[in-house]
Amino acid sequence: MKNKTISFVLAFVLTLTLIQAVTPTAVSAPETSITDVTGIGISIAAAVKRDPLDSASSWARDSISSAIKKGFVPVDMQQDYSSVITRQEFCRLTIKWLEYAAGKKIGAILSERGLSRTPNAFTDTSDNDILAAYALGITDGTGNNKFTPNGEFSREQAAAMIMNTCRVLGADVKNPPNSGFADLNTAADWARDGINFVRANGIMQGTGDNFFSPKETFTKEQSIVTFDNITQAAEWIAEAATPELPGANGTHPILNHKTVPILMYHTSSESNPGSLSELYVRPSAFRAQMEYLIEKNYSFCTFDDFENISQYQKPIFITFDDGYLANYTEIYPILKDLDVRITIFLVVSLVKQGALNWDHVVEMSDSGLVKFESHTMTHPSLPSISGNAKRLNTELEDSKRIIEEHTGVEVVALAYPNGEFNSAVITEARKHYKYALRKDLGKHYLSGSNYEIRRIRINRSTSLQEFKSLLGS
Ligand SMILES: [Zn+2]
Repeated sequence: MKNKTISFVLAFVLTLTLIQAVTPTAVSAPETSITDVTGIGISIAAAVKRDPLDSASSWARDSISSAIKKGFVPVDMQQDYSSVITRQEFCRLTIKWLEYAAGKKIGAILSERGLSRTPNAFTDTSDNDILAAYALGITDGTGNNKFTPNGEFSREQAAAMIMNTCRVLGADVKNPPNSGFADLNTAADWARDGINFVRANGIMQGTGDNFFSPKETFTKEQSIVTFDNITQAAEWIAEAATPELPGANGTHPILNHKTVPILMYHTSSESNPGSLSELYVRPSAFRAQMEYLIEKNYSFCTFDDFENISQYQKPIFITFDDGYLANYTEIYPILKDLDVRITIFLVVSLVKQGALNWDHVVEMSDSGLVKFESHTMTHPSLPSISGNAKRLNTELEDSKRIIEEHTGVEVVALAYPNGEFNSAVITEARKHYKYALRKDLGKHYLSGSNYEIRRIRINRSTSLQEFKSLLGS
C-alpha cells in the first residue's frame, strides 16, 4: 500500500515536472496537497517549483509581496514565512529595510554617522549585518561577548529594535506616549519604550484583549509585515528624517510618498448627546473647520477624483460614516452654504423612515454636494464573517447595488465597519470597489494600498488648533 502511494506520488510529480518543463508557470498549486498527504512528498515536491508565498499566512501575503517588490526581503528569507525568525535573520532584514528606507547602502549610512563595524564585537558571529546593526545602536549582544545569532526572537526584542532603527532615520523616539497595554509591566525594562513607540506609530498592534505579549516569539512573516507597515505609515520619517538625509532629494522612497488627508466624521449635534458624544461634532465646529480648509485653498474631493488625485494641489476628503439623520438636518445646510463636497458611507439597512431616508439620500446626491458610498448592509465585523462567502458578498455587493439603484450614481468605495478587514475581505472588496477605507492611522500615503486607505478621525473634542495640526498646518 505504501509503495503504491509513493509510486503514485512519483508518477504524479513526474507528470507535473514534465508539464512544467513546457509551461513553467502554469502549475503551482496542486503539488502542495501531495506534500500534505505523505511525508515523502515534501522532498520530492521541493524539486517541483512551488510558490513560496504558500507558506505564508493569508493575512500576510499582500504585504510580503509588496515588501519583496520593494527589495528589502533577503532572497534566502523568502520562504517558510510562518517560522520563528532568528536574531540574525531579523538583523539582516533590518539592514535591508534601512537601506531601502534611506535610499543608500549600509556602508554610506555608517560612514555618514562616523561609525564602523567592530569585527570582534562578538565571539559567536562576524556577520556583517549584525555588526552594522550593533554599530548603529539598533541591537545589543546577549551577554559575555555573545550575540546568539540563532536565538529566537521575541515581540519585545522586535519592538525595541524597530524603535532604534527608526531613530537611525531621525525619528523622535523620546518619551513615546504610554501604550496602555495591560501586560506592559511584564516586558523587560529595555523594551518598554520600544513597545510604546511601535504602538504610538501604528507599526505593531497588540495580540488582543489589550495585551502586547512581550515574550511571545515573532515570525518571519510578522517581521516582514511590520517593516512594510513602517514604510507605509512613517509620516514621521518624512518630517523628522529630512535634515539627516541630505541625499533625499526626490529619490528617497519614503520621502517621496505623497499623502492626502481623509477626514472621518460620524454625525453632528450642538448639544451634548451624552453617550457616544465623541461621534457628535458640533455644527459650529464643523463649519469653522470647513471655513479653515476653504481659507487654506483645499480642494474638496470625492473618490471619483481619486484616480487623478495627483493633479490637485491640496486635495482633502471629508467623510461621514453610517448615515445619521443629522447629516441631512445639520451638515447638509452647511455644505450648501459653503459649497463643500463630502462623502457619506451608508449602512444600507439603517436607511429608513424616521432616520436618514432615501428621499434625503437622493436629494443630497442630486445636489452634487454629497457622494454616497457603501458602509455595507448591516455594519458587521467583516473579518468575523469572512468565512461565509455568501454573507460577505451580500454585505459588499448588495449594499453597492442598492445605493446605485437609488442615486443612479456609481459606488466606487467601501468603508470597512469599525475599520476591520483581513485578506479575504480585501479579496472580496476588490471585486466590487476601487477603494476601501480604514478608520485610523493618519494621512493616507498614495503609495499605499487602495484597499487600506487611512483616515484621520475628527471628534467632538477636537479643537480647531488640533484640527490644524492634524493636517500638518
Ligand atoms: Zn461605522
